[in-house]
Amino acid sequence: MQAECTPYLQASSQAYREAALAIPGGVNSPVRAALAVGAEPAFIARGEGPYIWDVDGNRYIDYVGSWGPLIMGHAHPAVVEAVCRAAHDGLSFGAPTESETELVHAIQDAVPSMEMVRLVSSGTEATMSAIRLARGVTGRDCIVKFEGCYHGHADALLVKAGSGALTMGVPSSAGVPAATTADTLVARFNDLDSVRALFAARGEEIAAVIVEPVAGNMGVVVPHEDFLPGLRQITEAHGSLLICDEVMTGFRTAFGGAQSLYGIDPDLTCLGKIIGGGMPLAAFGGKRRYLEELAPLGPVYQAGTLAGNPVAVAAGLATVRLLREPGVHEGIVAKTTALARGIEQLGASRGVPLRVNQVGAMFSVFFTDDDVFDYQGALSSNTDLFAFFYRAMRASGVYLAPSQFEALFVSAAHTDDCIAETLEHVEAALARL
Ligand SMILES: *Cc1c(COP(=O)(O)O)cnc(C)c1O
Repeated sequence: MQAECTPYLQASSQAYREAALAIPGGVNSPVRAALAVGAEPAFIARGEGPYIWDVDGNRYIDYVGSWGPLIMGHAHPAVVEAVCRAAHDGLSFGAPTESETELVHAIQDAVPSMEMVRLVSSGTEATMSAIRLARGVTGRDCIVKFEGCYHGHADALLVKAGSGALTMGVPSSAGVPAATTADTLVARFNDLDSVRALFAARGEEIAAVIVEPVAGNMGVVVPHEDFLPGLRQITEAHGSLLICDEVMTGFRTAFGGAQSLYGIDPDLTCLGKIIGGGMPLAAFGGKRRYLEELAPLGPVYQAGTLAGNPVAVAAGLATVRLLREPGVHEGIVAKTTALARGIEQLGASRGVPLRVNQVGAMFSVFFTDDDVFDYQGALSSNTDLFAFFYRAMRASGVYLAPSQFEALFVSAAHTDDCIAETLEHVEAALARL
């Protein structure tokens, strides 16, 4: 394997050093620092369509899309216009606006299980609030999450897998009191027996199972056919709620989210990313009888100064309206499939062991000989090869997420030419592995 480094980016490097004096790690969210792939972050100057430009003037084809939201591409004119129009009318009121109801209706048209919806400002808030609601309506304290699934950085959900973790949550961050995660039980993705074992031991105490229906935060991991229906059946049998965390998969795996693809009717659903169109906005919702337990109607408290912010709502509404035009989502998925299959074929013809996991418009490349269907599989892929691949792609003008354990995203703005150009660079990178 040849040494490979990204070209020296003078302006980015300088911006990074300056940022790092004032901002921990120079970044406002840790993976952006690109430490896992042995690179420095590119500081971004602007984006348009499928492209971003760094402060040194380099152009990249972007497969991060702000980590998922930008399914219509960067600075889509209709989204920017909607944002500007909303901004001119006032940035925030802390009072209800009609556009919030419009966005909620647009969400419900796509995700009918969300009989009522509350808007919040981040995915973390959405999952945190959904968990509180599930605990409030069931009067139970325990929750079940899966190894390798990420649900934002609320304390109770920051629990990693560990050998003892099947029965007891172990905090995966300093600063999280053990008591906060003691009620967080961890099961294995795609392993219903691990869920049944938890319910057999503590079923009466379990308020909810929370799951990314297609895992995206250990790289993309696809659910086995019986996994989600099994979760639905087990939770129902024990009077627990099923929470689908579709913050990433909503409007991404399919217009109606993963629940529409896999035919699941969850009790609660969390959305984020795409429904904000690049602005801070997320949502949780579900069965009316549960949502009516939220303040001011019921005893479960939840609130937000900027929740349902009119400028964010305008961006989300414009994005969802573009995405629901006939053929738009199908087109994005077709391009994602072409890219994913193309990478697989190049791996095969170059003799590079790799697996591409894809659902709808999200995918991941794992360097391994084995199918990746859980956290252990993801962890056993070759992250050194991934780091090399990342740096080679970035040097050739393709911007990937700087970690093996992230999903990659295609947007409506990616043309067939973008995909073809990307595949040429993939071929060149694989040839040098
Ligand atoms: C991104 C993400 C979150 C957290 O959303 P933030 O807006 O970053 O707080 C939660 N769950 C899933 C599945 C996500 O992908």
